[in-house]
Order: sequence, then structure tokens, then C-alpha cells
Amino acid sequence: DREKNIMTGVLSLKSKKIRDIMTNLIDVFMLEADQVVDDELILSAHGYGYSRIPVYEKQRDNIIGLVNMRDFALLDTESGKFTVRNVMTFYNRRYGKLIMPDDSCYEVFNKLKKEQYHMGVVIEYENNSSLDPKVRAVGIVTLEDIIEEMIQEEIIDE
Ligand code: ADP
Repeated sequence: DREKNIMTGVLSLKSKKIRDIMTNLIDVFMLEADQVVDDELILSAHGYGYSRIPVYEKQRDNIIGLVNMRDFALLDTESGKFTVRNVMTFYNRRYGKLIMPDDSCYEVFNKLKKEQYHMGVVIEYENNSSLDPKVRAVGIVTLEDIIEEMIQEEIIDE
């Protein structure tokens, strides 16, 4: 029954890894930092229905920040002079570029909660140089992803 499912879900959080529940980078809707924010961009972004949109620079695995859809609400798009980067810098929203694919869901749930992040960016090291460690994004994970694991059910939210 449902209670049993929830208990099982909560108890399995420690053994479940982020890589098993994250949204893969290929499925993440993102914006490029230098894109000009016009009505067309805002409208198409709304179509995806997500509230948080990672921002990348040049390549998709180079995530540099985050915008919230509501950040576009008061923007003057007529002038055509604002880029995604401008909006991102102005609101300066935090995002968690802290998460490794092999971290446990339990660990990450606590980390996101404690530091008050809703979304974390899952990263991987590109090379082994300890002097110049390059990272690339491989996906995102939100509190909702982890809570779904806990309750073993999809959360429907509009
Ligand atoms: P929202 O608040 O935007 O509905 P949630 O945090 O509730 O997003 O997450 C719902 C699901 O959508 C999760 O599986 C999450 O990984 C995924 N998700 C969130 N933002 C994005 C995005 N920009 N692109 C793709 N998937 C996303």
C-alpha cells in the first residue's frame, strides 16, 4: 500500500544515487547567455512550463547560472537590448553547482534543504588535473525529483 511505498522510498534514499534520478542534460531546457531576450524567446520559454532555467555559455555543458521565468515579467523587451546574461546578473539567483552523479539522494536532499537551493547542477570532472579541474554539467536535479523518489509517486504540478 501507499504508506509502505513511502517508507520504502525514504529508506532507499541513502542507497539511491543522483545519476539514477537526475534529469539528463540533453533533456534540460536552457538558455544561452548571449541570447537577446525578446517576446518570442519569453513566449517559447513559457511553453516548456519550467520555472527555473539554467543559463549556459557557448556549450550546453558549461552552465554558468540560472534565471527564473518570473525574472522576465517586468522586462522591457521593446528596446531589444537585454540579454539572458543581463537578466541573470541582475537577479543573481543562486544555483547549486555542487552535486556529483554518485552522491546519494539522501546527502543531496539534506544539502539542498540546508543551503536553500531548489535546483542543483550535476557535474563531472573533465580531466584529472588537480591544478586546473574542469567541470562539465551532466544534468540537473531538483528537490521535487528527490521527493518523488521518497514518496514513490509522480508529483503533478502545473
Ligand atoms: P518546476 O518548478 O519548474 O515545475 P520542479 O523543480 O518542480 O520544476 O521539477 C519538475 C521536474 O522538471 C523535475 O524532474 C526537474 O528535474 C525537471 N526540470 C526542472 N527544470 C527544468 C528545466 N529547465 N529543463 C528540464 N527539466 C527541468
